[in-house]
Amino acid sequence: MAEADADDIDRAVEAARAAMKGPWGRTLTASQRGGLMQKLAALIRRDAQLLAEVESRDNGKPLRDTLGEVNRAADWITYFAGAADKILGEQIPYRPDALAYTRREPVGVVAAILPWNSPISLSSWKLGPALAAGNAVILKPAEQTPASLLEIARLAEEAGFPPGVINVVPGFGTVAGAALVAHPGVNKISFTGDHHTARRIMAAGAGSLKRCTFECGGKSPHIVFADADVDKALTVAIHSAFRSTGQSCSLGSRLFIERPLYDSFSAALVERVRKIRVGMPLDPRTHIGPQTSAEQLEKTRRYIRLGSEEGARLLLGGGRPKGFERGYFVEPTIFGEVDNRSRLAQEEVFGPVLALLPFDTEDEVVEKANDVPYGLVSGLWTKDVTRAHRVAAQLEAGLVSVNTFRPVHWMLPYGGYKQSGVGRENGLEVLHEYLETKTVVVELAEGPPADPFAD
Ligand code: ADP
Repeated sequence: MAEADADDIDRAVEAARAAMKGPWGRTLTASQRGGLMQKLAALIRRDAQLLAEVESRDNGKPLRDTLGEVNRAADWITYFAGAADKILGEQIPYRPDALAYTRREPVGVVAAILPWNSPISLSSWKLGPALAAGNAVILKPAEQTPASLLEIARLAEEAGFPPGVINVVPGFGTVAGAALVAHPGVNKISFTGDHHTARRIMAAGAGSLKRCTFECGGKSPHIVFADADVDKALTVAIHSAFRSTGQSCSLGSRLFIERPLYDSFSAALVERVRKIRVGMPLDPRTHIGPQTSAEQLEKTRRYIRLGSEEGARLLLGGGRPKGFERGYFVEPTIFGEVDNRSRLAQEEVFGPVLALLPFDTEDEVVEKANDVPYGLVSGLWTKDVTRAHRVAAQLEAGLVSVNTFRPVHWMLPYGGYKQSGVGRENGLEVLHEYLETKTVVVELAEGPPADPFAD
């Protein structure tokens, strides 16, 4: 794999800026731009199997997940392709003798910095709106997983995008990433990853006041009230905590269970989670695969040790799955009686580790749910419609789900409160993050203007 350095970043920025001055930025109509995006989406669907295999080999996610993600990436790009020619300015009734209007213009060159957990899927979250708004994009995949985005670049070329509109620079965060976010030719940064990295990026981008959107993970509360539909809540709670081997920013990783339900719910949970099949990524029977890297495996094992040290009760897992002692596999793990102030409840593990927390009252659970530095997603289960809306209004999170969890979709704005991020992705709302508003005022009054310096 080629490793980009600062010179490669200069060349990518130069190519992107040239694209903004070429047909992409100057002569193509918005509908033609949308048409190119439609073609890219069709090519992604055509090559879905290949792309999914590349992704699975690179980050260890089961094929059943990556295949779904690749097809959804095509859906994401299709949605925003349709938006390309529906971005409108406004006429403003400023004065009867003036014409005032706004133009929505692309911000210019967008640096999209991606994590290793879902490269294709998350690249579509950024490519879709950035291209629809008419920008040129430089994608910087994570050093652990650069392969699939190079395949996307190949498809962009086949779709007929002019050179320089979509650039991919594989490389390390501290070299390629750092050069990209500090580059004066980059207008906007869209980043998904760790909040410590986001702070460094914000500081590096401050030199030229870059526009920034950040999505930085979470420690999301998933609340089950005693009147919940228990069977449904159980199925969704398990999937929301263990999907992608826990390597997702939007897991329901803190499961709050109302006291009367706590014992039976946690016992049923343990029995069901025991049946999750850990396995090789390319085996279609596999439910969850390994962790992506030795580093991530070590981090997860550190939190498992910490959970026991902090006094939580290990209810399931904690070790290496039988038959998978080699590689980066870890057993789905459940801790009970977790203290919300413990590090296991406060910090993002990014592995298959679920914390169970009993609670007694609605006020108590709202207080605890919000008592973390994060605020990305949250969910609650109840049949009481009044309580559902009351609690939804109080949860500090960009997404609240009632009787489901984390409905992530191209139509739904997504992003974090507090240290989970800045700005929103997805939904039509995200387009504003990739556009500048230019106000144009045309004087229509006849005669000389008032001259304040006349006397
Ligand atoms: P994770 O914890 O998910 O690995 P990181 O924040 O470390 O998250 O990495 C996410 C992305 O940010 C990767 O593409 C990585 O290369 C990039 N990155 C890391 N450090 C920097 C930096 N200083 N400047 C720009 N990008 C960086």
